[in-house]
Amino acid sequence: MTDKFDFIHEEMERLEREKLLIRLRTINSSVGAHMVVDGKPVLNFCTNDYLGLANHPRPREAAKAALDKWGAGPAAVRSIAGTLDLHVELEREMARFKGVEDALYVQSGFCANQAVIPALVGKEDVIFSDRLNHASIIDGCRLARSKIIVFEHRDPEHAEHQIREHLPLYRRGMLITDGVFSMDGDVAPLDKLYEVASKYGVMTMVDDAHGEGVLGKGRGIVHHFGLQGKFDVEIGTFSKAFGVVGGIIAGSKLVMDFVRQKARPFLFSSAVTAADTAACLESVRILSESEELVDKLWSNAEYFKQSMQQLGFDTGKTETPIVPVMLGEAPLAKQFSARLFEEGIFAMALGFPTVPQGEARIRVMNSASHSREDLDQALAAFEKVGRELGVI
Ligand SMILES: *Cc1c(COP(=O)(O)O)cnc(C)c1O
Repeated sequence: MTDKFDFIHEEMERLEREKLLIRLRTINSSVGAHMVVDGKPVLNFCTNDYLGLANHPRPREAAKAALDKWGAGPAAVRSIAGTLDLHVELEREMARFKGVEDALYVQSGFCANQAVIPALVGKEDVIFSDRLNHASIIDGCRLARSKIIVFEHRDPEHAEHQIREHLPLYRRGMLITDGVFSMDGDVAPLDKLYEVASKYGVMTMVDDAHGEGVLGKGRGIVHHFGLQGKFDVEIGTFSKAFGVVGGIIAGSKLVMDFVRQKARPFLFSSAVTAADTAACLESVRILSESEELVDKLWSNAEYFKQSMQQLGFDTGKTETPIVPVMLGEAPLAKQFSARLFEEGIFAMALGFPTVPQGEARIRVMNSASHSREDLDQALAAFEKVGRELGVI
């Protein structure tokens, strides 16, 4: 007899057979360079905690104080009774930080894309999207029910070609790109994309999840290219360099006012807690006051990348502190990661379908929280496992 869940059994068996099953490791300590993972003390090269703010004393203390003042949860959506003065303060601070008129705080970066894309374009419209854009952008585009036209990765000429060909068939267009592409650590050619989109009157949006706290002296990719206030929409997250949780949509007052009226995750899903909001606010303040952590991040990343290259590893085409260690096939990358874990180094293997077939890798996430000794320990483990598995 067939079971109505046969489709699940079959798919789960396929994932198991092809070694694509996701297994969750459990963290048993605070987040930082040194963590306890599945009961084992390890050095962490996996999280997006670029600046070590996830467990920094200032956001931690700010969260505790906010919990005492405002309580555990707002128990309402922002548009009904969930907008705390703290949310508004964070939005003001973020707008200033990014050099734009206005900003809107939502529950996550994922949510921000679901919120803003369908608010600005619909089924009569066309979206021009980089081939390697993040899943949350792709889902936001699908939700908008617009025509999605892909342009080749980091290719403004192809974007222009696509705009010329397709824009006349639709009501309006929007160009969307990741700022930093997190699998390779490469950076979108934002200035050229802006030029192309502006020439044809196409709206522009950049998702800077991996650029904030990293590029542009910590202020993100738009600062890096000197385009402050020019991009129509900037998406950000508080879950990476800022070390907390939540998403940000930033741009002109006109666009933000409109998004407040239209964005469904903003209107129909409850507000972020006071403790999280206060921690975000404190992280933004730390970054506004000093570039020290950003400098440390870059000097750590340079040291790690150059040392890996000297050891004979291929570190791909990164331009940021994300260092992909290119290994080829997925089983090798998985084995490499498992051996590193035994050696006390927590660094994740990425294989198909997260990255293209034959481009499996270990992705090393550098952080300002690492000391030179931590990096040397990781490099020694990479050298040992690399020789053992015949990679170097
Ligand atoms: C991580 C990421 C997101 C999701 O952000 P969350 O706040 O974790 O939901 C969105 N866009 C890009 C480009 C990302 O890298």
